[in-house]
Amino acid sequence: MRQTLLRNPVFAMAAEQFDRVADFLNLSADLRERCKWPKRLITVTVPIRRDDGTTEVFFGHRVQHHLTRGPTKGGLRYHPSVDLGEITALALWMTWKCALMDLPFGGGKGGIACDPATMSAGELERLTRRYTMEMIPFIGPETDVMAPDLGTNEQTMAWMADTYSTHVGHLVPAIVTGKPLNLQGSCGRARATGHGVAFVASNALHQLGTPVDGATAIVQGFGNVGSHTAYTLASHGVRILGVSDVQGAIWNDRGLDVVKLRNHLAQTGSVWGFAEAEPIDPDRLLCQSCDILAPCALDRVITADNAPRLRCRILAEGANGPSTLEADRILDARGDIWVIPDILCNAGGVTVSYFEWVQNFQHLSWTEREVVTRLETLLQKAYTKVISFAKRHRLSHRTAAQAIAIQTVADAKSARGLFP
Ligand code: NAD
Repeated sequence: MRQTLLRNPVFAMAAEQFDRVADFLNLSADLRERCKWPKRLITVTVPIRRDDGTTEVFFGHRVQHHLTRGPTKGGLRYHPSVDLGEITALALWMTWKCALMDLPFGGGKGGIACDPATMSAGELERLTRRYTMEMIPFIGPETDVMAPDLGTNEQTMAWMADTYSTHVGHLVPAIVTGKPLNLQGSCGRARATGHGVAFVASNALHQLGTPVDGATAIVQGFGNVGSHTAYTLASHGVRILGVSDVQGAIWNDRGLDVVKLRNHLAQTGSVWGFAEAEPIDPDRLLCQSCDILAPCALDRVITADNAPRLRCRILAEGANGPSTLEADRILDARGDIWVIPDILCNAGGVTVSYFEWVQNFQHLSWTEREVVTRLETLLQKAYTKVISFAKRHRLSHRTAAQAIAIQTVADAKSARGLFP
């Protein structure tokens, strides 16, 4: 029954990763069961009035994987591929990410199966408010806290905060993170994930003896994560050779001017057609020679097909789940690509979300410098922990990161015991 409910290739991937790590950790059968399966799987229908006067019903989900170490935390995604299995996989990865970073959260993820690109601002607002209303019995600042993800942004979070606050009768900023600054969002949250990707990728460059200034990078996806990754890397002197988004890929041997590219995106809605670049096939883009390849868009883009042809030194996983299990096996066998796994590489977002949540409870507002310094301290600690664990146990970086995280959750479950 549970396998049928969650039948989805992304869930199958997350589940197999878990099983392998549980084997390595020699987890007892009962802890294995308790750590793997989500606590709550919530599916709601979200009816909204479209601009043309018709009514359409969307399916929305929220999965709360674990409440053992604190409230669940994780993004809300608007994308046509959203289903319960995909959302559950993403909730599992959030659990491991929070545990690896030692944040007092379990993993959560939400999503609505829709295509935001075809919806007006009014339709998106009605969708977001109705979804929030349907979720009110299950969420709260001490229960489950959402944040932006694929297809959502700080405006989405503002609508959620407003809907929840209107319902309870007073402003509850800690109900979501990734809010606008004027609603008690945190300095540095918008760029946190991309900044983190650039920070850990720069760490890896140092470790491999390659100067950051003058290194090269390719970034897939130019949304929140991709654009901030490219911007931060470029500001450290890295040449951004190519980027892509859903409309196409572009290339410039001399390096793209990321500030101009952002302006072009703001004007046209895409990186495609940027004057100071030439077009390149999006699949070929991933296989060009570079120091850092940063997939920052979708899951399962590094596959058995392209993994043997990658010509990067570092694979910095900005997206969640960008490498398939088969690709992982190929990269392990190759041994020449330094993989920075997603739960470490893109953990900057949830870490600054945690800072935002703490500031909301304390009614404090930290400066951008304070946020970035604390973020880099926690990322550095997690990075060092993963690399030394991998070396000590002769594991891939991904298995090492997940092993540290799963052991942390298993220890918390053991300490709490099984109720009743
Ligand atoms: P976003 O919606 O802001 O941007 C997504 C980008 O990917 C857009 O530029 C879009 O055009 C591009 N894209 C979509 N399909 C593509 C394709 N087939 N080829 C190339 N580009 C494509 O989303 P985001 O918040 O930047 O999230 C991107 C990824 O990062 C997701 O996997 C998300 O789960 C993960 N992530 C996001 C955060 C965060 O703080 N936003 C944190 C951790 C992980």
